[in-house]
Amino acid sequence: MNEELPCGVNCAKCPGPVCYSAAFMEGPENCPTKVKADIIEKAMSRYHDPQFAEFARVASVVEGEAYMKTPWAPQTNSPMTTRLEEIINFAKKMGYKKLGIAFCIGLMNEARILIPILENRGLDVISVCCKIGGIAKEEIGVKDEEKIVPGRYEPMCNPIAQAEILNKEETDFNILMGLCVGHDALFLKHAEALTTVFIVKDRLLGHNPVVALYQSSAYYRRLLAKDKLGS
Ligand code: SF4
Repeated sequence: MNEELPCGVNCAKCPGPVCYSAAFMEGPENCPTKVKADIIEKAMSRYHDPQFAEFARVASVVEGEAYMKTPWAPQTNSPMTTRLEEIINFAKKMGYKKLGIAFCIGLMNEARILIPILENRGLDVISVCCKIGGIAKEEIGVKDEEKIVPGRYEPMCNPIAQAEILNKEETDFNILMGLCVGHDALFLKHAEALTTVFIVKDRLLGHNPVVALYQSSAYYRRLLAKDKLGS
């Protein structure tokens, strides 16, 4: 057993990734390309399922179009598109007409900026805020002391209702904007249309959570601390 990959499949610990190249069969002994061939074959049949085939193809086309050679660096492909442009390109190529936006109330301004950008490209937009229903957090078992401000009325986030409203509207494609950890997962579980994530909430890092990793050996060293036994 390769010491770098001690416990089954763990691509992130791969000592020499080759799967991006034509030598894709030369990975470590527990490389999933080798040991999970049955699953990979089954997944391939899903890409040929008419429900997903065009979606998968267009996603890769948009990925390809994201790169270009520039006159000042002609030897390499440089990325050229923002995620927002890729969402628009993808929706247009897929022929989508109606997009759903599920947004966090904390990102209402961002939703208000986004919607006309999409509408200018001929896309209809339905948007639903996370606090719809105005149901008190106590309804799902949150104690008063567990609220942001104890003693105050606090509505729960309602990602299932967000998803169901967009389902009822029969949106072609959904865009997630800043739902909380867990609320985003519930939305994704209940939405019928496929959903892309535009903004990932990070309350400290300006919705750019990867900064926590980039700073984990500097200002956010606390992230590398091990849990004490029993905690
Ligand atoms: S698929 Fe194989 S080669 Fe690629 S990262 Fe995983 S273990 Fe490494």
